[in-house]
Amino acid sequence: MKMPRLVMHYLQDLPAELLPLLEQITDLATDLRWTWSHAGDEVWKTMDPQLWEQSENPFVVLQNLSRERLDELNRSTQFKQHLDSLTKARNGYCDCCGWFGEVHAEAKLKGVAYFSMEFGLGKALPLYAGGLGILAGDYLKAASDLAVPVTAIGLLYQEGYFRQILDGNGWQQEIYSYNDSSSLPLRPVLAHNGAWLHIPIELPGRTVRLQVWEARVGRVSLYLLDSNNLLNSAPDRGITSKLYGGGKEIRLVQEIILGIGGWRLIEALELEIDICHLNEGHAAFVALERARCFQEKRQVDFWEALWATRPGNIFTTHTPVAAGFDTFPRELLAKYGLIYAKKLGVAPEELVKLGRRNGQDDNEPFNMAYLAARSCGRINGVSHLHSKVSQSIFQDLYPHWPECEVPISYITNGVHVPSWDSPWADEIWTQSCGKNRWLGTEEMLTAAINKLDDAKLWTLCGQERTDLVRQARQRLRLQLSQRGAEKEIIDEADQILDPNVLTIGFARRFTAYKRPNLLLHDPNRLIRILTDTQRPVQIVVAGKAHPADIEGKRLVQQWAQFAAQPIVRKRVVFLEDYDIALAQELVQGVDVWINTPRRPWEASGTSGMKVLVNGGLNLSELDGWWAEAYTPEVGWALGDGKEHTEASWDDVEAEQLYQLLEQEIVPMFYDRDATGIPRSWVARMRASMAHLAPRFSNNRMVREYVEKLYLPVAINFQQRTAQGSVIAKKLRLWDEQLRRNWHQIHWGNLTISEEKDGWAFEVQIYLGEVLPDSIQIQLYADPLDSETPICETMRHYASIPGALNGYLYRGNLPTTRPYTDFTPRCVAYHPDACTPIENNLIHWWSGTAMLHGNSP
Ligand SMILES: *Cc1c(COP(=O)(O)O)cnc(C)c1O
Repeated sequence: MKMPRLVMHYLQDLPAELLPLLEQITDLATDLRWTWSHAGDEVWKTMDPQLWEQSENPFVVLQNLSRERLDELNRSTQFKQHLDSLTKARNGYCDCCGWFGEVHAEAKLKGVAYFSMEFGLGKALPLYAGGLGILAGDYLKAASDLAVPVTAIGLLYQEGYFRQILDGNGWQQEIYSYNDSSSLPLRPVLAHNGAWLHIPIELPGRTVRLQVWEARVGRVSLYLLDSNNLLNSAPDRGITSKLYGGGKEIRLVQEIILGIGGWRLIEALELEIDICHLNEGHAAFVALERARCFQEKRQVDFWEALWATRPGNIFTTHTPVAAGFDTFPRELLAKYGLIYAKKLGVAPEELVKLGRRNGQDDNEPFNMAYLAARSCGRINGVSHLHSKVSQSIFQDLYPHWPECEVPISYITNGVHVPSWDSPWADEIWTQSCGKNRWLGTEEMLTAAINKLDDAKLWTLCGQERTDLVRQARQRLRLQLSQRGAEKEIIDEADQILDPNVLTIGFARRFTAYKRPNLLLHDPNRLIRILTDTQRPVQIVVAGKAHPADIEGKRLVQQWAQFAAQPIVRKRVVFLEDYDIALAQELVQGVDVWINTPRRPWEASGTSGMKVLVNGGLNLSELDGWWAEAYTPEVGWALGDGKEHTEASWDDVEAEQLYQLLEQEIVPMFYDRDATGIPRSWVARMRASMAHLAPRFSNNRMVREYVEKLYLPVAINFQQRTAQGSVIAKKLRLWDEQLRRNWHQIHWGNLTISEEKDGWAFEVQIYLGEVLPDSIQIQLYADPLDSETPICETMRHYASIPGALNGYLYRGNLPTTRPYTDFTPRCVAYHPDACTPIENNLIHWWSGTAMLHGNSP
């Protein structure tokens, strides 16, 4: 077996009889399933109680295990039995066929490669900055639970995202801790000959060799590419040193490594992949390299290869603003793109066009989201509202198409529930829903949770709050000591917060659009709410600002300084260094989770979903996921469900926020019956747990990805590439002919007549050299209230006498909408093509219609 590097040193003079035990422990310690499955905690604790307490990281325990201790453990039958049963359970988990194997046993899906710049799996592997990474980490865990054949690809950063501490003034300081790859729960990936596998990437003037690490997440492997290799020059060793660090150039090279290196890795490992899933546009180069390899293997040109492979690529976009797209200036692209264009055998201008809105504009930067949109067969956003917003920001790629037809669907995000539930919640859910509750469909969960009685739920809430208070005090004590605070101040940490007081959580990236200071809009009013003697409230706050975001740092400071005032010191605490571990403590212990983004800037947001399983309630802007989750039975909403640009709107929402707290939330929480239970509060907890926790789980999300995207996409891809990829060849010709001849299309007369039960449209069209079966003539009307437009295909009716390739098309419509709502149009059509993603040609009818019969 491939031992992690550090363990290997340790092996050098180990007595042979200890080897099997060490291998067994290593095997378990390097499977990150321990980040959510706690069955092994006792085993790790037995090995070294103190280290376990301190790190909760089996890999750290393993690395610090002395030879003597290993020897002792080897002689303890009890320990070995415990370890054996753990191994057995783990193997059982990995070997069973799982939801995917049961429900989709016949599926043609061979493998999905999931690409992401960041992965947030736990604090033991800090390769994430925020929501995007945590989503990716949660996705891998759920893919493992459901046994979906996924392989993930990312980068190994020597420094992950920064750690935050605050100085005495509340000003954020950034600390970059070093990820020593040998102390992370990773294994080196070796080539067949036993040497380290190297993935070569050509950069101007040199070839960079990437080494590869594997992190195991249950059944799923996450491969991490790493340029920190002695074979590379010193600057190149630093390419993967920082997540989102450095300038545009480093970012571009990182994205080249992720995409191009990522696909080369797949080839090197001989993985069978039919789907590349791009978690955000950063990895879009993978589509090019995938096509290039196809090109090489099948001896076709790049464009045919792209036609063949594109339907196998899926692009999930996460940004709600065009400014969030990753772009690179022309010079950079020229510097790195020229060699690659040559390799693809395409003219550099053609390559650059793939990342531009307007291919002719030489100054337009290269946009990774555009490249992704053009080289993937499907595009999706991460909430319903976000797909609408994305339709508007991607509209430029589909000129003349109505916004509502911009081909971006959505799959709303979810969270990996077992990673976020408290031990108390786990117990209750296990009692009522069983151990396998997040391993398949979740229909029965709602009914089971609905049956829970009030006392039980209210007790859960108290247990969780008590834990949070204890953890927050510990954290505060540590953070004050590290800051060098005076002893009295440090000792006061043990008195902050109260396990019986309504607890609000607020934690997120501190950036202007999240409006982290909305609660501080009227500080005195907030102080009154917090310090009410009958019905007090307490708040736990956390969050980092991007190192370059001075405004964000001011917002952090504003909270830190607010919390430091003696009058609220017991009721407000700002906890430093928001990360997965802190997020877990918060979402498990709060009663209310507040989120105040400026609509529609929160693509989905996931932190609020993490409180659901634990009985926490949401008070959130009607944005992202909450816009589709909110009903009055499950929580509270901010805003009016519309976008506002006026500056004074923040005043309106701040007022709304205070009113909700003062008039609804606080009174409801403290309205206790004779037994001490707040009945309407508990009713909301139950409704939120029963209805929302299953719906916003990653379990549901991954199943949706499988059923709505992966399965159909895998079939599309296999069809395209079957039999010498005849379909791809046909489509490529279809596309070229249409583009060449499209300008020849023009309309003749349009006549509309009223018939018995509707309008009859007849339109003449002259197609020039465009073949009639490569297009469709449609009657289109914009949607009214619902979101789906009306789009009726018109029938080919007759040839126009004397005309070459001129036809009459006919279409009938019900009279429910006036005929003036409808416009004929001609669009590119092929049963095997994904239009308008793969071909966006469209030609609208214009002119004056003639009316026949009864004038409508
Ligand atoms: C869940 C999580 C996020 C993402 O939360 P949002 O709702 O998108 O703000 C960010 N950081 C951490 C540490 C998290 O756990």
